[in-house]
Amino acid sequence: MNAVNQRIVLLGPPASGKGTQADRLSEAFGIPHVSTGVLLRSECDRGTALGREADAATSKGLLVSDEFVVRIVANWMQEHGTRFLFDGFPRTVGQATHLDATLISLKSPLDLVILLELSDGAIRSRIRERISCLKCGATYSTSLHTHAEGDPCPRCGAVLVRRNDDASEALEQRLIVYRDLTLPVVGYYERTAPGIMHRIDAGEGSDAIFAELSRLVGNE
Ligand code: AMP
Repeated sequence: MNAVNQRIVLLGPPASGKGTQADRLSEAFGIPHVSTGVLLRSECDRGTALGREADAATSKGLLVSDEFVVRIVANWMQEHGTRFLFDGFPRTVGQATHLDATLISLKSPLDLVILLELSDGAIRSRIRERISCLKCGATYSTSLHTHAEGDPCPRCGAVLVRRNDDASEALEQRLIVYRDLTLPVVGYYERTAPGIMHRIDAGEGSDAIFAELSRLVGNE
């Protein structure tokens, strides 16, 4: 049997399905799913000074500083080790180079980088219908699922809400940030690690995408 890939980065714009697919892969392959968005929101919920700083950026659709994000990821790795499915990290070339340096020092290089690609039109329409759990990060579509805003999250029981950064002004800002700061991360991996970089059309159905991702993670 082939060895399963264990250090994986999932890149993609908002609503490309990174979180949903990372959850499914985590369950299927037993690799921890780490969403920096969820880690940052839990910092905000705890009301720490860093959480307040993060919230000021997040609610406007801007990125939290590299320094802060790199620190929470380093803390996570110290506690949980170097098997991960990163969702929403790295989001800048600075974060990507920092992650590489950390993994080189741990002699545990990345195994896979996967980009989920989706058009701006599809992103906007998915976000209009999206309700989310701020606690566990699960998302639901009001057109595909029967859940509504205010319902309990089927997975963890917290309340489902519309994220304030899914409002149209913050979303437009997030799309600009994605194009200007995160798409260069794709170029960075294409230059430095072309053998592990893959692109998937995120407009396909969720099951087809999961099958393709499973093939890559399972090294088939
Ligand atoms: P997400 O849940 O991945 O959509 O992230 C929500 C928000 O958290 C983003 O719009 C950013 O403000 C912030 N955030 C999440 N991950 C990062 C990151 N790697 N670097 C900087 N900011 C981040």
